[in-house]
Amino acid sequence: MSTFGGPHDLGMAANEDLALFTKADLQDPKYAYLFLPASPPGTSGLGRRLNPDQYYFACRWDYTATPREFLRRALARVENPANGRAADARPVDWGPHPSTGRVADLSPGLAAALGLNTDDIVRITISARRAIPVKPTLAMKRVGHGSSNPHGKPVIKQFIKSPNCSCRNGARIDKIVLHCTEGSLASALAEFQKSDGRQVSAHYVIDRNGDIYQMVSDSDRSNHCMGANQNSIGIEHVGGETDPLAAPQAAASAALIRWLLEQYQIPRTNIFGHDFTPGYCRPGGTSCPDRLFGSVHSQATIAAWVEANV
Ligand SMILES: [Zn+2]
Repeated sequence: MSTFGGPHDLGMAANEDLALFTKADLQDPKYAYLFLPASPPGTSGLGRRLNPDQYYFACRWDYTATPREFLRRALARVENPANGRAADARPVDWGPHPSTGRVADLSPGLAAALGLNTDDIVRITISARRAIPVKPTLAMKRVGHGSSNPHGKPVIKQFIKSPNCSCRNGARIDKIVLHCTEGSLASALAEFQKSDGRQVSAHYVIDRNGDIYQMVSDSDRSNHCMGANQNSIGIEHVGGETDPLAAPQAAASAALIRWLLEQYQIPRTNIFGHDFTPGYCRPGGTSCPDRLFGSVHSQATIAAWVEANV
């Protein structure tokens, strides 16, 4: 593999476009996140306008086997077999040129996240079942799972399995609980991986830079909100007691919540701050989620943030 795209990729001509996307796609929120808000100075093509921090890639596609329209809707799993790190990414282009001897080109951000350098080996898995619909309609049958969700699941930077979970036994997911780690990313990830401590966990942990880590499958119960774990998804946000959400963290959280609401048909009114979750029963309560969503510790603060952001 090698890397490509973005303002600093001088290997791409200033007017070079992409095989799978056109300028019309800049208006589509499903795809707009792949691009910078404006063309870098002196360029007009989509290649240099790619946001190098987003996760995208190119392969030398055979369009009879993987048609262009399929690729536009597909999410692929990209993996570094040397260290097991993996992430979801979107195909955007055809390449690299056969003369390079390489078969895949990754975004600089994706390569960095997976710990890959030029000419390393990468494994890419693309599955028809993970395609997203081209034209989601409200009339489409919503079954809670599968491909009817018009919101793509945000990229999970890494799935780090926590032992502190149990089978949901098919119980319906009907609420989302928002938390504050009251500590660093590293300390939260470490605590959730320990099986001999407080035995706590969360489904997701969102770092201040917007990176999302998953630690428990949605179909399992994580130990994040005593008394209310059976039917909830827990999202931790890295922050201290007086921190508000960081901007990229808020955007990532809102995107994840949007996907969860649609995926499990959760009512928008069922997004709670930890301390305000129905069923939560730890004696003495908690100060969580602190000041992340507003300066007043109340469910009204959470609801207002959801209204404004999700
Ligand atoms: Zn909490």
